[in-house]
Amino acid sequence: MTYSSESNYSILQDKTATGKKRDWKGKKMRSSLMSSHYEGLEKRIGAPYYGKKAEKISNCAECLAFKREKETGRLKLYQAYFCKVRLCPMCAWRRSLKIAYHNKLIVEEANRQYKPAWIFLTLTVKNVEGDQLKQTITDMMQGFRKLFQYKKVKTGTLGFFRALEITKNHKENTYHPHFHVLIPVKRNYFGKSYIKQTEWTSFWKKAMKLDYTPIVHVQRVKGKKGIDAEAIEKEVREAIEEQKAILEISKYPVKDTDVIRGNEVTEENLDTVYYLDDALSARRLIGYGGILKEIHKELNLTDAEDGDLVRIDEEDDDIANETFEVMARWHVGIKNYIIN
Ligand SMILES: [Zn+2]
Repeated sequence: MTYSSESNYSILQDKTATGKKRDWKGKKMRSSLMSSHYEGLEKRIGAPYYGKKAEKISNCAECLAFKREKETGRLKLYQAYFCKVRLCPMCAWRRSLKIAYHNKLIVEEANRQYKPAWIFLTLTVKNVEGDQLKQTITDMMQGFRKLFQYKKVKTGTLGFFRALEITKNHKENTYHPHFHVLIPVKRNYFGKSYIKQTEWTSFWKKAMKLDYTPIVHVQRVKGKKGIDAEAIEKEVREAIEEQKAILEISKYPVKDTDVIRGNEVTEENLDTVYYLDDALSARRLIGYGGILKEIHKELNLTDAEDGDLVRIDEEDDDIANETFEVMARWHVGIKNYIIN
């Protein structure tokens, strides 16, 4: 089939204010591939559950309705269907953007109200086999709740933002679930309320009832006085990169190229999707506590996991003046979003 006859279309181009390209095409391609894996699981296991998910994902972001600002020419998404399947790369991307935006606002507000210091904690457990992943994550969620009930932790901290991340060791075929935690601490934390790395480690070990000593990283988010949210975000990002974690704290739990390797449906990829789907479906993967939870509420932020993924920045839609609509449709043959 050729598309030369369809000369009346152009390819969607969407850029951020800073000129960075929004990779709708790339995300849609990865989503289609994810959908094929769910189809593969349907065939392998014979449960309609997987077929339904395959269909949902393949319908994700088929059609995007934008408004174009006349002056800047910039696009703003205002209507689309997002499937919200946990492992959908398109939806994971939208969620990451939304979480990052929320965290920026929350950190800014926390700084304004409480002037806290910030620390960054990584809580890990040993790698597990696929069939233990779901239970391990359940245990970790419980362990995390326990950790923040310990008196010393309660006394020294003001809250938390917690994000679950899972990486895969493809060589050993094991999974590595861990938490990235951003914690506002009281100013006196670095005095008498200070919790040493070895203490964090033994608290986590105790909360998780582990018979080995887990790896726990803790570091202060440095910064000059009057630190702004962006600087903290940047520092957190750098801190994670230093620890060779794959994702930024606001990123959604699994990097899709770490789930599905390559561009084809393979047996190994099917296994990975199977275990991650089982472990992550219908589960809250990010969480806020203490003052960060309060501020999340105060700012009236919507749910970044199951809520609206169309509007990311939650700004009032005052772009009605001088805009016109742009409809972009996913074209399976061209493998891109086209605008007629
Ligand atoms: Zn989706």
